[in-house]
Amino acid sequence: KGPQDEIGRLIQTINGMLERIQHVYQSMEEAYRRQRRFVSDASHELRTPLTTIRGNVELVEKMWQREEDGEQPISEEVMTLSREAFEDISAETERMSRLVNDLLSLARADAGKVIERVPLPLLPIVEEVVRRAQFLPRSPDVAWRAEDLSPFHDVFVCGNRDYLQQLLFIFIENAFKYTEKGEVVLQVQKTDEQAGIRISDTGIGMDKEEVPMIFERFYRADPSRGKVGGTGLGLSIAKWILDEHEGSVEVYTRKDQGSTFIIWLPIWKGRDNLAEEE
Ligand code: ADP
Repeated sequence: KGPQDEIGRLIQTINGMLERIQHVYQSMEEAYRRQRRFVSDASHELRTPLTTIRGNVELVEKMWQREEDGEQPISEEVMTLSREAFEDISAETERMSRLVNDLLSLARADAGKVIERVPLPLLPIVEEVVRRAQFLPRSPDVAWRAEDLSPFHDVFVCGNRDYLQQLLFIFIENAFKYTEKGEVVLQVQKTDEQAGIRISDTGIGMDKEEVPMIFERFYRADPSRGKVGGTGLGLSIAKWILDEHEGSVEVYTRKDQGSTFIIWLPIWKGRDNLAEEE
C-alpha cells in the first residue's frame, strides 16, 4: 500500500463529503423555495378579500357622499345597496379572519412549535366533537351521526385535547362542505396499536390523482366544484397535528360518490403496559 492508495481514499472521502454537502444544499434550497411560495400564495389569498372589502367601503362612502351633497334624505335604493355592500364586507372579513388564523397555525408549525401532549382518554374528546359538530353549517339534506363509540371506552392516547379536537373538526367540516345530500358518519375502530376515527361522507368525492395533493398548502381540488370558499389550508394543518401525534391518515374517495378519511392515532399504553409486564 503506497501513498497512492492513501490519496485515492482521501479523494473518495472528499467526494462523499461533497455529495452530502450538495444534498444538504439542495434540500435547503427546496425549503427556501417552498417558504417563498407559501409567503407569496398567502399574500395573494389575503389581497383578494381586502380588495373586495375596500371596493365595497368606497362604494358606500361615495353613495352616501352624493346623498349628503344633494341634501336629500337617504333613498331606499342607497340603503339597500349599502346593506348588500356590508353583507359582502362581513362575509369577506369572516373569510379573512379564518385565513389569518390558519396562516398563524402554519407559521407556528414552521417555527418548529412542538404540541404539548399528555396521556388522555380518547372517548370524551370524540364525544364532545360529535356533539359540537351538529352546530356546524351543513346542507339541510345532509344528516350527521356517530355510530357506537364504545370501542374507545378504555382507549388512551398521548395527545393534546384542543389540537385533537381541531383535527377532527377539520375533517368533519370538509365532509359537510363537500356534501350536498346524504349523510356524514363518524365511526370508531381499533387495533392492538392504533385507534381509528373514520369520517365518511356521500359528497362530491375526488379523483384518485388528487389525493396526494390535498394535504399541500393552498391546494384545492377543482375549486369551482366546491361552493363554499375554503382556504385550502385545513388539511395541511391537519397533517401537522397528525405528525405531532405520530398519527396517520387513510383516504378513500370516488368522484361523485363520496370520501372516507380514517385518522389513526397510536394508543397510549404507558402505565398499563408496564404494570402488565411486571
Ligand atoms: P379547503 O379549505 O379548500 O377545504 P383543505 O386543505 O381542507 O382546504 O382541503 C383541500 C381540498 O381537498 C379541498 O379544496 C377539496 O378539494 C378536497 N377535499 C377535502 N375534503 C374533502 C371531502 N370530504 N370531499 C371532497 N373533497 C374534499
